[in-house]
Amino acid sequence: MNPDHTEKLRPLIVFSAVGLGLFAASLIIWPLWINRIAPELLGAAAENGGTESQNLIVFGCIIGLTCLNLVTLMLPEAPTIEDSMAQIAEKIAQPGSMAQEIEREVSANLDRIIALLKSHSEASRLYSASLENAGRNLIELTSPEQLRVAIGFLITENNKMRKETNDLQTNLNESHQQIENLRENLEVAEETGMRDPLTSLWNRRAFDHMLELQVETAIKSNTPTCLILADVDHFKKVNDSFGHLIGDEILRLVSNTISKNVKGRDFVARFGGEEFALILPQTSLENALKLAMQIRHQLEIQKWFVSKRNEPVGTITASFGVAQLQLGESKDAFIGRADSKLYEAKLAGRNRVAS
Ligand code: GH3
Ligand code: MG
Ligand code: MG
Repeated sequence: MNPDHTEKLRPLIVFSAVGLGLFAASLIIWPLWINRIAPELLGAAAENGGTESQNLIVFGCIIGLTCLNLVTLMLPEAPTIEDSMAQIAEKIAQPGSMAQEIEREVSANLDRIIALLKSHSEASRLYSASLENAGRNLIELTSPEQLRVAIGFLITENNKMRKETNDLQTNLNESHQQIENLRENLEVAEETGMRDPLTSLWNRRAFDHMLELQVETAIKSNTPTCLILADVDHFKKVNDSFGHLIGDEILRLVSNTISKNVKGRDFVARFGGEEFALILPQTSLENALKLAMQIRHQLEIQKWFVSKRNEPVGTITASFGVAQLQLGESKDAFIGRADSKLYEAKLAGRNRVAS
């Protein structure tokens, strides 16, 4: 079931459970009351004009209203809000202006919820006090008219409390919805913060997180993990000949070619300027090499045109360094080895793969 629906049904479930409990309890209390308590406790009231049946009604009302009061006190505990807060608190610990903005909004929401709970708690306290007071006075009531007034008072108090509870529930639902929206915004902001705006690939920050995770996983599961670093050859010349904007377009096309060649768990990131990185979990060095060669070949044979002028750009090639994670190797050492292989490929004449 959708958790939102479960949340909406929660007061109804609690209310029904209390109702059933009350019904079960009344089956026990009722005979006890009729046979023992009522004659002793209410005898005096009955003699003074009230009847036992009137007093029984009052007794039932008090029990019913007290239970309703208990339900009222239970309603403000909405765990989903606390859950949302805990999750958001974790996320807003990260730096970033968007996160700080969201932190401010969540904080304002929290203040609002606390103020609501405080006012509700005060109303609950007053309500309990008036119930207690009415219960005490009841024993001293002598005429049916006084009993009618007392019951009327209890019903009015109860209606006030019910309205208060409904208002609180509505406000809590609203706050919950606002917090959910903020959380979604934060997720989008985080996703945006992990993406490279030019190519839409994962950025260096995401790459660092992912590689750390993959190094840990590979050690635990004892599976081969490979890393490919790719660098576009003589890219400075492309910028110099065609301009920076065309250079940008070519970087996007290169990133598309790389992305088209990977699948599943493979992770492609823009490592820096015209450099790309591929993390390949559960992949042997042999297969990583094959993939690097395949991408190198596809780049080399591609006919490069720039969209606006439909002008041919000539050949675009890239060099590749491939490494497999070694036992006990750190993330940085792993990157260092792939980078030195890339350097070897450059030194050997570019447009090649080294491992
Ligand atoms: P090598 O084969 O040795 O890698 O030569 P290279 O010219 O590719 O390397 P170099 O490091 O000399 O130059 C990299 C160039 O990449 C210079 C820089 O302006 C360009 N570049 C880096 N990021 C971007 C970008 O986002 N857009 C564009 N258009 N160019 C970029
Ligand atoms: Mg470079
Ligand atoms: Mg380069």
